[in-house]
Amino acid sequence: MKVLLPCAVCFHENGWPDMSLSILNLNDEGYYTIVCQNGHQTNTIIWQPKYELLFELGMNAIADGYLREGVTAFASSLERFRETCFRFILHLADVDHSFVDESWKRNFVRWSERQYGGFHAVWLVTIKGAPKTITPKQTELRNKVVHQGYIPTLAETKSYGEAAAHEIEENFRTLVATYGSKVDEFLRHEFSGRAMMKNVDISTLSIPTIIGTRLQSQNSIEFDDWIEKIRKDRVIFDWPKP
Ligand SMILES: [Zn+2]
Repeated sequence: MKVLLPCAVCFHENGWPDMSLSILNLNDEGYYTIVCQNGHQTNTIIWQPKYELLFELGMNAIADGYLREGVTAFASSLERFRETCFRFILHLADVDHSFVDESWKRNFVRWSERQYGGFHAVWLVTIKGAPKTITPKQTELRNKVVHQGYIPTLAETKSYGEAAAHEIEENFRTLVATYGSKVDEFLRHEFSGRAMMKNVDISTLSIPTIIGTRLQSQNSIEFDDWIEKIRKDRVIFDWPKP
């Protein structure tokens, strides 16, 4: 999956982004150093949470025809979303960050079932109701893909993705309805920590994702329309490039 990054200096000088965008591979850190066609070197952080980017990776995998990779990216996105909820709820309960980190590393990080249990339990205690979750049948598909080398059909992949998106979006909306701006503050705090560690001038950016767009707009965007958009963007921006 590629990301398109404009130059912050060109934007500052001209009032609009330089038309020659840099095209880079999505990376784990979310931190990018680019040199634009006018020779400016700039540093950019994509501030969106990991689960949103992993989900978009799944959408790109479908657009490319890699259906197993689509399911595994959606599954990873769900796991990271549940971790984010777990950490957010414990943060609200004033549990020291280092205890949460230690507990996560020791007891959760290698077991997705435990992660699910932890997420479900803290959610029940604070929200006083069960979170929206994908069905056991959908989890079975994920397990078949991950552990048995099963190659899912396009319909299965899209159906799993829709269910995963539903879990993320419904629960995110519940968090915002319950805790308001604290959700955004928590997510931004995580990325500002990463930005400060770099000790250089950094501009922040968000990239278009189906999860982000659906959460911001009232009109739900269909999976097929978004996949079509990814394919069109590739033609417009002449992807892929080395
Ligand atoms: Zn520039």
